[in-house]
Amino acid sequence: MLQAKNYKFWFCTGSQDLYGDECLANVAEHSKKIVEALNASGNLPFEVVWKPTLITNALIRQTFNEANIDEECAGVITWMHTFSPAKSWILGLKELRKPLLHFHTQFNEEIPYDTIDMDFMNENQAAHGDREYGHIFTRLEKERKIVVGHWTNENVQKRIGSWMRTAVGVLESSHIRVARVADNMRNVAVTEGDKVEAQIKFGWEVDAYPVNEIAEWVADVSEADTNALVEEYYSKYDIILDGREEAEFRKHVAVQAQIELGFERFLEAKNYQAIVTHFGDLGALKQLPGLAIQRLMEKGYGFGAEGDWKVAAMVRLMKIMSAGIKDAKGTSLMEDYTYNLVKGKEGILQAHMLEVCPSVADGKSAIRCCPLSMGDREDPARLIFTAKEGPGVATSLIDLGNRFRLIINAVDCKKTEKPMPKLPVGTAYWTPQPNFETGVEAWILAGGAHHTAFTYDLTVEQMADWAAFMGIESVIIDKDTNIRDFKNELRWNSIAFK
Ligand code: MN
Repeated sequence: MLQAKNYKFWFCTGSQDLYGDECLANVAEHSKKIVEALNASGNLPFEVVWKPTLITNALIRQTFNEANIDEECAGVITWMHTFSPAKSWILGLKELRKPLLHFHTQFNEEIPYDTIDMDFMNENQAAHGDREYGHIFTRLEKERKIVVGHWTNENVQKRIGSWMRTAVGVLESSHIRVARVADNMRNVAVTEGDKVEAQIKFGWEVDAYPVNEIAEWVADVSEADTNALVEEYYSKYDIILDGREEAEFRKHVAVQAQIELGFERFLEAKNYQAIVTHFGDLGALKQLPGLAIQRLMEKGYGFGAEGDWKVAAMVRLMKIMSAGIKDAKGTSLMEDYTYNLVKGKEGILQAHMLEVCPSVADGKSAIRCCPLSMGDREDPARLIFTAKEGPGVATSLIDLGNRFRLIINAVDCKKTEKPMPKLPVGTAYWTPQPNFETGVEAWILAGGAHHTAFTYDLTVEQMADWAAFMGIESVIIDKDTNIRDFKNELRWNSIAFK
């Protein structure tokens, strides 16, 4: 479900023919060595492909248009080895639609003090060639990522690798299709939004279905298939009966297994990668999809509750961006539920009625069947767990009427001081940066929602870069946030993003 394409990134070196063929041969040799080193470093999640040195308007334009139509090319990395007059790049850059990283490096790490002469200076002049190139980018007002430093530096390599995930997010965004099962929860503001604008900005397709259409797919799942999945559940998760009779408990679990299979078949058949449900509109479904949705999220589907299609698409996007990370810690819908306000221990308890993704779980999850205080259905089965500790990123994409804003909050996940044995849902607990009071105040000032798309596996920088490439406003709440500056930023952004 999460498998992305075998993406590659093109490495394009800029130069000119002013310094002769010998110089151009060196430029090509140097850039090949850099590409080999980047690929061998183990710090890049995708392969870099060397391209012939770009020295003319025509070749630049042709190469970038080839990048546009190559489905495996997720972005372009450029570097001006020598001076490359930037007017040569205007047409190519205007036509390039893929993400671009400007790698500001040079072949030699140290000035060769004993041997340096003017020939060396002319051949190794990224310091001014990249400034000329950067200027035209700024003048064209095109979005690009700049990474500065020597190509052998591990931190530099990791920054390129991190950006590659952003670039894949940019490309994959336009492949996200969200199936809305019923409409948004009545009267709720923040889960609403302009779906046409979302498709224009992000490429998301958001379609609604009557709940009973998907309920038919659930009803069509055979008893044998359902029972096989129940067996898988029982082998994978702990079972907490809470005094229920075993056969009755199993029947409740089977309802969720049937929903999981029916929903998954529906989504696969109709090519959707994300789904929303609404507890108030369940049609023929016997239970609110809990365990079923948790399992689908774990498989890589996006999900938003109460019709929240923006969160569903963001969860899917962030799962794609973080796909394949070694020792990934998880990505999920979260909801700011309740606070601990004890001085020095402040934090926000994160949960949902049921639907938190077990990818964030710290250890083995358990199934419980408990009453739902809302709605009029059977007690739904759900997975319970507590989430991992460590830094994470909570995001909220909101529609302000004239534009989207992505709010990005760095948070520190921890364990609650004591266990909560009577709380039958998956939970996380975090303190927002820079501290509880400032983080929460900034979030509310920015208009952030109670639903978030959360991950341990991406950074504030990656999410902000994604938003920038999408051409939308983003605001960051992290260790550097203070309220006075943040209020000004919101005020200025309201003009900048009109
Ligand atoms: Mn909710």
